[in-house]
Amino acid sequence: MTQTNSERLERLHTFLTQEKMRLWNELRVELFETLGEGLHSQYDIPQDVGEKGIIDLLEDTGLAVADIHKEELSRIEEALRRLANGSYGFCEDCGEPIDEGRLRVAPFAPCCVDCQERREEHSSTKGLTL
Ligand SMILES: [Zn+2]
Repeated sequence: MTQTNSERLERLHTFLTQEKMRLWNELRVELFETLGEGLHSQYDIPQDVGEKGIIDLLEDTGLAVADIHKEELSRIEEALRRLANGSYGFCEDCGEPIDEGRLRVAPFAPCCVDCQERREEHSSTKGLTL
């Protein structure tokens, strides 16, 4: 069982890391497309600007589009932290491991499919909440 569990963690870690990279790349592209050429001269960003550099840059520019990505990135960071301390990927309600396929579609799902359905039954006035 330990073997299976560590393989699962390994796969989830790879997945989350890829998600993080994808988000950073999107963020970069959006930043440069939105601000265009002026960005380089105005902020003097090196081509290989690091994560910290981009965060600083975002705070300087105050782009709304970037806020969405910042939000997602902080959730990914949180997920990676929880993965490191062993609390990521488990259902909040029943404590069972959440299906990996589900986590790939909804990395921040707080609970498993069964419990999600139960939750939705109980909150009939609310729409889909992941
Ligand atoms: Zn559950």
